[in-house]
Amino acid sequence: MSTLILGGGVTGLAAAWHLQRRGETPEVWEAQETVGGWMKTLPWEGGHLETGPQGVLWQPGTAVDRLFKAIDLPFNAPGKGARWVGKGGRLVPVPASPFGLLASPLMPLSAKLRMMLEPFISVRPAEPEEGLTAFIARRLGPGVASELLPAMVAGILAAPPEVLSVDAIPKLRQWEATGSLVNGVRKGGVSHMVVPEGGMGQLPIRLAARLPAVRTGIRASSLERLPDGRWRVTGGGEIREVERVVLALPAYEAAALLGSLAPASAVALAAIPYTSVDLWHSRHTPLPELKDGFGFLIHPPEGRGYLGSLVPSWMDPQSAPDGLMQLRSFVGGAFPKGPDLDRWEGLFARLKGWIPQLSDPSAVRHERAEKAIPRPELGHRARVQAALEGLPRGLDWLSNARFGPGVRDILEGLETWSA
Ligand SMILES: Cc1cc2nc3c(=O)[nH]c(=O)nc-3n(C[C@H](O)[C@H](O)[C@H](O)COP(=O)(O)OP(=O)(O)OC[C@H]3O[C@@H](n4cnc5c(N)ncnc54)[C@H](O)[C@@H]3O)c2cc1C
Repeated sequence: MSTLILGGGVTGLAAAWHLQRRGETPEVWEAQETVGGWMKTLPWEGGHLETGPQGVLWQPGTAVDRLFKAIDLPFNAPGKGARWVGKGGRLVPVPASPFGLLASPLMPLSAKLRMMLEPFISVRPAEPEEGLTAFIARRLGPGVASELLPAMVAGILAAPPEVLSVDAIPKLRQWEATGSLVNGVRKGGVSHMVVPEGGMGQLPIRLAARLPAVRTGIRASSLERLPDGRWRVTGGGEIREVERVVLALPAYEAAALLGSLAPASAVALAAIPYTSVDLWHSRHTPLPELKDGFGFLIHPPEGRGYLGSLVPSWMDPQSAPDGLMQLRSFVGGAFPKGPDLDRWEGLFARLKGWIPQLSDPSAVRHERAEKAIPRPELGHRARVQAALEGLPRGLDWLSNARFGPGVRDILEGLETWSA
């Protein structure tokens, strides 16, 4: 079957790679001059920075592991790394195990005791779709839902959990389906953040190098059905007529192309909101307490738009020159933010509030991730279903808004899709 894949982010490239393994020769069109979408590693004064994902959740024998092995992608696995939640005006360590939480000041004792009942809570049917906060409150208790969940979700989706569907983090329902979250995690095993050598951008670069027809700088601008049932795609002075078109695009881009061809799909896709976030990269004198840590997230009521910071130089030592610690701070997302956070000086003052010993930066760089992260609000399941059911034969839509927010979710989703 002749297939044209629109979108050369990790979703489109990994989809093409799966089709190629099945004996097809798909072509990929990418609007930008380089592949990767949000997954790009940019050079930065003796190191680099990531525009999107900082790492990917990996464990042996999973979709991520199989893909990395198949494309010979070497990676660094730095280990667990210390994590903190900014709460009560200070950084509180997140214990490595749920039992460690019992001694932690992150939640009141009543919330900790309720959390321990999770394995005994009965499984709820998948329908009707539940809100994320309601799901966590039901399984782990209202204390976890109000005291821990908001910071964790801000670190993944840059949005408050109370507006989100449980489908925003698909693993949760998968784990519950095994009997309990504890059981699901035990059965599924624990994943670790890993980073390809040279940065996340190496993943799409390696994938593209293994595909026969990846064309960059071509933005598909129109889609048309031919009388014989095939599809004509036009863009950047090129025209293709193919049996199948795969839209590996953010929902709003797919909606714009589908328009009147698949109105129900277009309406459902256009209704999926996306979140923008500001990323500030900065380099500092290493701090013993932070330099071997993964990073910290701020409890959103205290962050007021400052979501937290990661320590990329721990996860990916090539990101910063020797002797420097690199931070990556997240601002905004779907949270209201103070005007002080529009400038580095304002953010730095906030950072110093949490880490008073942080040195002045030797370098700072700002990146804006515009409409970068899907926001699966309550009703997301129906929107995705309507989008897929409304697609005419020969059209498909693949995206993190369909499979889940992380690279691991996408690669797992694509394995099932291509089976
Ligand atoms: C700031 C940030 C941090 C993140 N951190 C993590 C993390 O640490 N771990 C993790 O697992 N995930 C993380 N993610 C999520 C992960 O990066 C995304 O899920 C993933 O990269 C999405 O890939 P995609 O291919 O679906 O979409 P995109 O990367 O958006 O790719 C879509 C591509 O389609 C192209 N395109 C658009 N319109 C057209 C058109 N008309 N014709 C042709 N091409 C078109 C675009 O140029 C783009 O390259 C992060 C995301 C962001 C934004």
